[in-house]
Order: sequence, then structure tokens, then C-alpha cells
Amino acid sequence: MGSNILYIEDNPDNMTLVKRALEARGYRLLQAMNGLDGVAIAEREEVDLILLDINLPDIDGYEVARRIRGSGKTNLVYIPIIAITANALKGDAEKALGAGCDVYMSKPINIRELWARVEAFVPSPQKTVVPLYRGSTIHGGPNA
Ligand code: MN
Repeated sequence: MGSNILYIEDNPDNMTLVKRALEARGYRLLQAMNGLDGVAIAEREEVDLILLDINLPDIDGYEVARRIRGSGKTNLVYIPIIAITANALKGDAEKALGAGCDVYMSKPINIRELWARVEAFVPSPQKTVVPLYRGSTIHGGPNA
């Protein structure tokens, strides 16, 4: 599995925030500023997860989700889609799930929540560095 994440979002501040947060964890971010570009990129590129804003300038996020799920590209039937909505109304979350999104989170974006939700589907490619201390051996620590 790769680590390419597509974010479909028209707000540049959110785009910058999410880009920094995900790149810090080793993910690669593909960006679309409207719904139609988002669908096109999902169909053209190798994408492992989609972050989807609901309020977009052309087609809304619900329609984006429906088009992605209805795409002829096989992996888009199963690709994880996380809806990000500014709408506090309870019905919007259900609408996002009904359109094919797997989970939703609300704005303002909380970075720890974002990391946790993304990592639930796509493990962080950032390798954990295990420190080797001078005086210890590779085969065992001081008590081995
Ligand atoms: Mn928006």
C-alpha cells in the first residue's frame, strides 16, 4: 500500500495546514481545489485515501463521493473517504455517509484527530527511529 492522500478542498489555509501535517508524517499530498478536479485526479493518479471537503465551488462533496464510488476504476469503490464538513447540522454527517464516505470529521481541523483518522486507514510511512546507544549491543541491551 502506498501513502498518497488526495485532499479536495477550496480553502487554501486548510490545504496548507493539512499538507504540512501529513507531510510531517511522511505522506504525500495531492491537491484539488474543486470537486471535478478531485474526481479527475482520483481517476488518474494512484491514491490511497481521500480527504473530502463538503462545501466546494462546483459540485459539492456529496456529489464528489457519489462520482468516486460510481467510477469505473476498481479501487475507487473501496478507497477510504474522510469527509470534512463545516456544517454542524447532524443531518450533514449522515448525508456524507450516505453518499459513500467512510467517516467524517468537522472543521476546524484538529491535527491529532486528522492523524488518527488517516492512520486508521493508511499507516504512516514515517519510520520510527530506534536509537542505538553507545555501549549497548545490537543483540541485547545492558540486561540481556
Ligand atoms: Mn470549502
